[in-house]
Amino acid sequence: MKPPHTSKNLEKLRDAAVRFHNRATKYHAQGEAVRPERLYLRALQLQQMLCGPEHPEVAHTLNNLALYYKALGRLAEARPLYERALAIFRTTQGASHDNTAATLFNLAELLKAQAKEMEQRARQTERDAREMADARHTAEATLRQGLGRYRLRVGPSRIHRFGIFAEESIAPGRKIIPYLGEFISRRERVRRSSGARTYLLRLDSYWSIDGSTGGSGAELINHSCEPNCRFHVRGKSVWVVSLRKIHRGEELLIDYKFSYRIPAVPCFCGTPTCRGMINTRRPLNRISRDILLDRVSTHCVSVNERSLNMKVKTGVKAGLKATPILM
Ligand SMILES: [Zn+2]
Repeated sequence: MKPPHTSKNLEKLRDAAVRFHNRATKYHAQGEAVRPERLYLRALQLQQMLCGPEHPEVAHTLNNLALYYKALGRLAEARPLYERALAIFRTTQGASHDNTAATLFNLAELLKAQAKEMEQRARQTERDAREMADARHTAEATLRQGLGRYRLRVGPSRIHRFGIFAEESIAPGRKIIPYLGEFISRRERVRRSSGARTYLLRLDSYWSIDGSTGGSGAELINHSCEPNCRFHVRGKSVWVVSLRKIHRGEELLIDYKFSYRIPAVPCFCGTPTCRGMINTRRPLNRISRDILLDRVSTHCVSVNERSLNMKVKTGVKAGLKATPILM
């Protein structure tokens, strides 16, 4: 049975909300990619429970969480948070309040970033379209048919450039084609991963396979958040295996599951459950004990884009007190 919400309990919960929020802004200002999210979400959950969903405190946290998503390149996730924060500030503090203005400024920055991203994508799509129209490139994207266990073909993909398509139906759980290429070390992977188009498959903390050298054609399989294949890894042998029945003419798709620790790579697979990025989401499970045992802080800090950029550029280690309340 849940304990009743006595004033002492409420006080504890309020302290916890402040603590989660402060820890989140601190890690956020230090440029951490992982820890702020669950702390912001935990603070948000408590604030909504304690103050109601339309409270300015909730809007502060929404704004900061949106800033954090934007820094990670998760632009689509940031936008609804800014819009909600803006609506709360407008209602509770008025259209001309500093907080409303700061959130509006942040939303404008986000819209600019989204426009830039779309422009980049348009340019890349244009380049891809030109390549597709050029028969030489199609010939280059050859598939080593003899290596696969099913008939496959290379064709233009609705997701990205070329993809691999099944030329016959494939039952679930079948090995389709091996993923081949040059075995490269950790250092070499870092060096090669900076290229425009890379086909690197990470096997373990040391070894990766570079499918662009001596690949089977499996390296052309595109990413989707709703895949029909997966990689089956046994030591240094990797196969593409069907997850379900694949019909003739269907494109083979794999969930690449890039780490949530690296900057987000936008996904355009267009499936209903698309994550919006090729990276996986960090599991939002239990809050670690070190956070729960952290000392109670009474400072509640918000950051906005201007203060955050300043800190990242100058490399100032942002303590709680050093972060200005600009909102
Ligand atoms: Zn997707």
